[in-house]
Amino acid sequence: MKILNGAALAKKIKSVLAIEIEYLVKKHERAPKLCIVLVGDDPASASYVKSKKKSCNEIGILCDLNIMPFSTSQDQLLALIETLNNDPEVDAILVQLPLPKHIDQSVILQAIDYKKDVDGLHPMNVGLLNISNDAIIPCTPKGILSLLKAEDVSITGKHCVVIGRSNLVGKPMAQLMLRENASVTVCHSKTRDLAYLTRQGEILIIAIGHPNLVNADMLKEGAVVVDVGINSVDGKLVGDIYNSIDVTNIEKKAAAITPVPGGVGPMTIASLLENVVEIYKKRVIK
Ligand code: NAD
Repeated sequence: MKILNGAALAKKIKSVLAIEIEYLVKKHERAPKLCIVLVGDDPASASYVKSKKKSCNEIGILCDLNIMPFSTSQDQLLALIETLNNDPEVDAILVQLPLPKHIDQSVILQAIDYKKDVDGLHPMNVGLLNISNDAIIPCTPKGILSLLKAEDVSITGKHCVVIGRSNLVGKPMAQLMLRENASVTVCHSKTRDLAYLTRQGEILIIAIGHPNLVNADMLKEGAVVVDVGINSVDGKLVGDIYNSIDVTNIEKKAAAITPVPGGVGPMTIASLLENVVEIYKKRVIK
């Protein structure tokens, strides 16, 4: 079974981007700039934001971190977003999710200028993903597609089964695979006979957030398996399937799998950096 090494590809993408950014900064006399907004002090969100900022800084992207208290009102957050939308020096905006419950997430995502919407979650980008090649693509699905392509996984005509239908991962992933000419099935928590459908997946993308829900018996022989899940079990980071109790049988059955950690996670960050640079280039190259 082949391991699809997202960490290695992400490293390569970052070094290519660093060279491109150096050239672009000389030419356009300013660096790309991302503004991250974090509301509250959720430890997982704080750690994601920290690693996004570190990755930006490593390759020459400026990254401002706006940390707001949990008590921030929706209007206060909207005011900050308006300021960032209107700031000509800010290329890209990322509001770290989830937001506190008293703030309506969809109102906030819609308030971001869709041309600066680095996560691709604004309805305009969601729509563009469905009908054109101009969308800013959500970072996790974009990273997964880059990894599959870099590993020469053929997609055209394949049956791709996606488990999960979130706006962040499942839905844009399904849309991207459709765009790549796969036949796509989307499964979710209300799907009947999940195993029947997953056994048909030549490419199986698992984005649930529960370890051990999918086992080797549910895989098609020779499937390419993408494990998006991030779970903490006994203080250890595990995926939805990669580190499951059924690992020996999975190794026998799957042709390839993304590891956790070192698979989809680093590719998500690499795609974020790519999105910042793409947005910057659209803004400076007229
Ligand atoms: P989510 O909770 O929004 O969505 C989970 C999906 O799983 C839902 O659509 C739900 O219908 C489906 N589901 C739940 N139980 C199911 C069941 N029994 N059978 C079939 N489907 C079921 O989560 P999300 O934001 O899409 O993230 C999914 C996982 O991926 C999480 O573990 C998250 O932490 C991880 N994630 C990882 C990265 C990364 O960079 N590696 C990025 C984003 C999300």
